[in-house]
Amino acid sequence: MDKEQARARLLDEQTRLEGVFAAASRLSAGAAEAAQRELSSADQHPAELATETIERELDQSVVHAAKAEMLECDAAMQRLDSGRYGVCEECGKPISEERLEALPFARYCLEDQSKLARRRNGR
Ligand SMILES: [Zn+2]
Repeated sequence: MDKEQARARLLDEQTRLEGVFAAASRLSAGAAEAAQRELSSADQHPAELATETIERELDQSVVHAAKAEMLECDAAMQRLDSGRYGVCEECGKPISEERLEALPFARYCLEDQSKLARRRNGR
């Protein structure tokens, strides 16, 4: 994958993430309105309220993940500009094409990624 392809992939990813943010903000606006309606209505359905709370929480974790990915995309763009893109930050070896296809903002090679995950889980 060359620099321009990588940039295009990152831009695609950012466009997708912006779609997630837009959808999530529409959803949470809708959920807030629905909550208002339920609070003001005389007969409340606790089960429905619970479902909405879960949906909202789900929503937040999706947004949280999308924000983190957005930051990773920005960081990857900076690595593209500085010529460090596609190089593992841990071992300095090139990250495989396959991995960059699947995860265009990858910082680590597959091996180091799993090592880091294990180290993080071990604590
Ligand atoms: Zn590595």
